[in-house]
Amino acid sequence: MNAPLQHDFEAAHGRDLAENADVYRTLLESTNAIPWKLDWPALNFAYIGPQIEKLLGWAPESWLSVEDWATRMHPEDRDRAVSFCVAQSQAGVDHEVDYRALKMDGDYVWMRDVVHVVRGSDGEVQSLIGFMFDISERKLAEEELLRLHRELEALSQTDALTGIANRRMFDQRLDTEWMASRRSGQPLSLLLIDIDWFKPYNDTYGHVAGDECIQCIALVLKAAARRPRDVAARLGGDEFVLLLPDTDEAKAHTIAHDYAEAIAALRMPHGVGGAGAVVSASIGIATRCATEADEPRSLLEAADEALYAAKRHGRGGAATG
Ligand code: GH3
Ligand code: MG
Repeated sequence: MNAPLQHDFEAAHGRDLAENADVYRTLLESTNAIPWKLDWPALNFAYIGPQIEKLLGWAPESWLSVEDWATRMHPEDRDRAVSFCVAQSQAGVDHEVDYRALKMDGDYVWMRDVVHVVRGSDGEVQSLIGFMFDISERKLAEEELLRLHRELEALSQTDALTGIANRRMFDQRLDTEWMASRRSGQPLSLLLIDIDWFKPYNDTYGHVAGDECIQCIALVLKAAARRPRDVAARLGGDEFVLLLPDTDEAKAHTIAHDYAEAIAALRMPHGVGGAGAVVSASIGIATRCATEADEPRSLLEAADEALYAAKRHGRGGAATG
């Protein structure tokens, strides 16, 4: 627009512009979000909406410099949020950042700053303008969703009857420990456990008693998984596993022997089918140092063969495969 024309325009619309400025201010200050403007070279706030007082408790007059913003931020969020905003602003890129803002009463509120970079005619960054949104409800919903997701994941890896790991979890951990054994050269042992004469037990004492028996066997197995990386799992039916990283054959035998004794010590009456007086289980033991040529499955197959041998040798004992 040339100079005389601009003059006419301003004369005709000056009043409108002033009125519009009032309208814009009213609009800005009646939203829930907090509008603000930062003079970039001076790093001072040219404007901060009065809403800041209602939301955070701070008077607008106390919100003067970029330090007032940075220091009233959760210490765990500060470095990330400030360095991200500075880098984006220097690069002249619009951006958004989430952080916990400190309230005057000492609490924190999750905020999202949505920032627009304003450049002058010389291309230099002149100011930043933006809105601060209260996103605490959204964050709560996100955290709840995350909690539900974790719960679901834990449930999908847990056996519903016994609460110990299920087949899915065992398969994952077997793969992990197989790789660990390949790296370290340490032996990996597996105990495959099957309750003896469990079908006649169910037929005689009923399904509810059968379920309780499975729960007791699982509880004792969980206690046998002493170290953090040991895994006690129910594969299904009356079959269980104990995965023992960094465990050689002799140690696996001792653990199997102790576990069989712990089951006997439960003194759960049986005596039907071919069973002795109390419930027992047969145990197949396998130990391998994992190699590239072998698969994790080979450990389970060896333990399965050993279990079969233990069953053939009269049950209630352990055999090695
Ligand atoms: P063996 O000594 O050769 O192992 O004989 P067994 O009678 O135990 O035979 P098997 O292991 O094949 O029998 C498993 C039985 O476990 C069959 C089924 O009735 C029972 N069973 C499987 N799942 C459950 C369960 O969730 N609850 C109950 N109560 N019983 C189950
Ligand atoms: Mg059985």
